[in-house]
Amino acid sequence: MFEKEKKQVLDAALEIKKNRLVSLSGGNVSMRVADDRYLVTPSGMIYEEMVPEDVCLIDGKCRVVEGKRKPSSDSEALIYMYDHMPQANAIIHTHQPWATAVGFITDELPDFLVTVMDACRNPVKVAPFTPSSALGMGELAVEYIVDSLAVILKHHGVLTWGADIEEALFAAVYLEEACQTYVLARSMGAQIPALDPELITQEKAGWETYGQ
Ligand SMILES: [Zn+2]
Repeated sequence: MFEKEKKQVLDAALEIKKNRLVSLSGGNVSMRVADDRYLVTPSGMIYEEMVPEDVCLIDGKCRVVEGKRKPSSDSEALIYMYDHMPQANAIIHTHQPWATAVGFITDELPDFLVTVMDACRNPVKVAPFTPSSALGMGELAVEYIVDSLAVILKHHGVLTWGADIEEALFAAVYLEEACQTYVLARSMGAQIPALDPELITQEKAGWETYGQ
């Protein structure tokens, strides 16, 4: 079941690896594929060694419906997010270093760069630490994600979501690029001015027609 979607999940997982958002088997990629059905990458498998059949099909109680692998240890938190964010059809979790570093210098990454305005839609908040592989991670993510497509998890990493997997992937990769710029600018002593909200709205409007 869901062979095409399993391939999409694996392709996104390889993409976050290629973009250095995770190492080895870190993070996870998941997708809502039907009512009470989710695809999630397996626990502790190196992405390059995975085949589409390794992607687990689970239900809302984290029971494996199809597949031989154990699903991601974050599955309970991910299901909580899907339950409380009905517009989310894909979630990507990474340990991307630049964005995680930003979590130690601010409580919110502002709308300071076109990539944040466009790919993340709104400023990205920093959620306080909570242990991974537990429901609390999902609860805090929902609380702090607000109207952004991303949240930084302090002492941990990042969660992004989207109406589809490409939207979640763009949010993760462009957030990392933006956070590198943010850290570089701040480390050079630059003050990052707030932008006119009207211009931010205009910028976001342009993104609606971006791409093919
Ligand atoms: Zn993690």
